[in-house]
Amino acid sequence: MCNSLLIVEDEPKLAKLLSNYLQQAGYEPECLENGLDVVPWVRKKMPTLILLDLMLPGRDGVDICKEIRSFSMVPIIMVTARIEEIDRLIGLELGADDYICKPFSPREVVARVKAVLRRSVDQKPSGVSSLLHLDEDRLLATLHGQELDLTAVEFKLLGFLSANPGRIYGRDKLMDHIYPDQRIVSDRTIDSHIKNLRKKISGVSPDTEIIHSVYGVGYKYDPQI
Ligand code: CA
Repeated sequence: MCNSLLIVEDEPKLAKLLSNYLQQAGYEPECLENGLDVVPWVRKKMPTLILLDLMLPGRDGVDICKEIRSFSMVPIIMVTARIEEIDRLIGLELGADDYICKPFSPREVVARVKAVLRRSVDQKPSGVSSLLHLDEDRLLATLHGQELDLTAVEFKLLGFLSANPGRIYGRDKLMDHIYPDQRIVSDRTIDSHIKNLRKKISGVSPDTEIIHSVYGVGYKYDPQI
């Protein structure tokens, strides 16, 4: 639990080396080499930390980092082959947590990973977005590593809302998503599903409020408030 790392690196030897070192340090690394695969993978698996190479086939690290930050605060360490690139990256304010320059020693990477994880625990006790994990194949939702016992409808609702943090959805929109067969259900149906969902979330984590009502409009998922 909470040890899954994603290594995004298109040099297979380097990815393997990092993966071995991180495994020995007690983490469970997985590797991706194509930039296009990263965001979908992160949305699905919500790793604990991401090591993100800058130059990748498919899509570059800057773009990927920006998109991940639109829905998750998962710690990101960016890896670049050019030391002078780091200033530019910092200037872009991508929201990465640290930067490492190649060539690096795998030991140094392990030390940085540990430091970033320690810091992210200290700084973001309610950094829920990286701690909400939805496994769509098994309809399994976990929050802070604890299982939320959700119905299929609640799972669908949480998945839909959390895919776009901060975005407000009206009840109609939520109903369309949950009952695509246009079944006639009352507005209150959504309210009662949300109510149950919140109850289950606070059952696992009493201080965590991630689903917010927007008066007269609908609901939004926002782990930052
Ligand atoms: Ca590369």
